[in-house]
Amino acid sequence: MIPFNKPFLTGKEAHYMYQAVFTGQLSGNGVFTNKCEKFFEKRYGFKKTLLTTSGSDALEMAAILCDIKPGDEVIVPSYTFVSTALAFVREGAHIIFADSCKDTPNIDPDKLEDLITEKTRVIVPVHYAGVACDMDKIMDIAHRHGILVVEDNAQGLDSYYKGRPLGSIGDFGCVSFHETKNVTAGGEGGLLVVNDEQYIRRAEIIWEKGTNRAEFFRGMVNKYGWVDTGSSFLPAEINAAFLLAQLEDLGEIQNRRKEIWRQYYEGLKPLENAGFVKMPVIPDYATNNAHMFYMTCRNMDERQGLIAYLKENGALAVFHYLALHRSQYYTEHYTERPNLPNCDRYDHTLIRLPMFYELKDEEVKYIVSKVKEYFNKLK
Ligand SMILES: *Cc1c(COP(=O)(O)O)cnc(C)c1O
Repeated sequence: MIPFNKPFLTGKEAHYMYQAVFTGQLSGNGVFTNKCEKFFEKRYGFKKTLLTTSGSDALEMAAILCDIKPGDEVIVPSYTFVSTALAFVREGAHIIFADSCKDTPNIDPDKLEDLITEKTRVIVPVHYAGVACDMDKIMDIAHRHGILVVEDNAQGLDSYYKGRPLGSIGDFGCVSFHETKNVTAGGEGGLLVVNDEQYIRRAEIIWEKGTNRAEFFRGMVNKYGWVDTGSSFLPAEINAAFLLAQLEDLGEIQNRRKEIWRQYYEGLKPLENAGFVKMPVIPDYATNNAHMFYMTCRNMDERQGLIAYLKENGALAVFHYLALHRSQYYTEHYTERPNLPNCDRYDHTLIRLPMFYELKDEEVKYIVSKVKEYFNKLK
């Protein structure tokens, strides 16, 4: 069976993890954490980064830093992973779900202004599949209304919007190193990017359980204590060591993934011309980091049929997301019933094909041939 995902290993992970163990510093904010953060700050010009235990935790830190008060409204696409909304719900926010674009699952900036009220505090664009949202439009709306922007860049490491790295455009950016993402910190991990200097000090405090421990280590204060809210958002050094090994091979990982993506795209494009599916759209302003290969079918039945057909033929394809505005949590806690047709369409028709570094050219070819076979049988 061709799996849907398989985490990539460079071969150096265990060596770096051993080094972390051997030097005896295992808790967070050590040498490896520092090396990872420096990597990001150097490669992408991020002002300040903090490694976190997950992408969800990076989002939670961002929500705390936005200083959400109960009842504040936060605009989130409905077509996303739970954590995008949950991080803000935990701070007492009232979530306003936004629709996706017609051509991409990203939040539709042209429908945003209608959702803004006096209570709106934050917009959370999600760069779905690592393909940028239209950030100029979103930032313009946010600036005009005095709203903060948190980029859920869980999927978009090493991808760009008009030449600017994703995660560096909003007030905060949040990256995930879960094992299903392009690079992983040994299963779970994340990164908070702080782009506005005024939040850096508080971010470090929230990261270190509400203490000014980071300043203590820099010799700026002679003892540290409890100064604010926070949690233990920092990962162990073992995870940072694992991540560093992956980051050192980032270029190679991205190149291979992009090549697999290209093979899928070229192989399946004739099905779009024949009217069976729609290929992913990469707008001019965006790059593709090949986080996933997805396409949309004409309806849910054909999508489910295709997943079953591929499974019978030894390849695991999957679908997601279940629109958050139709989730059990939302329908139990909210009275609004928003009408989000594009979101519903992606929920019903989007399929993701196997995508991982070790996927072989022959396997991609095989999957492409089986997808074509399925649609030819429908005729
Ligand atoms: C993966 C993902 C997250 C959560 O990241 P974790 O590291 O698994 O906590 C949040 N948002 C989106 C869009 C994701 O894809």
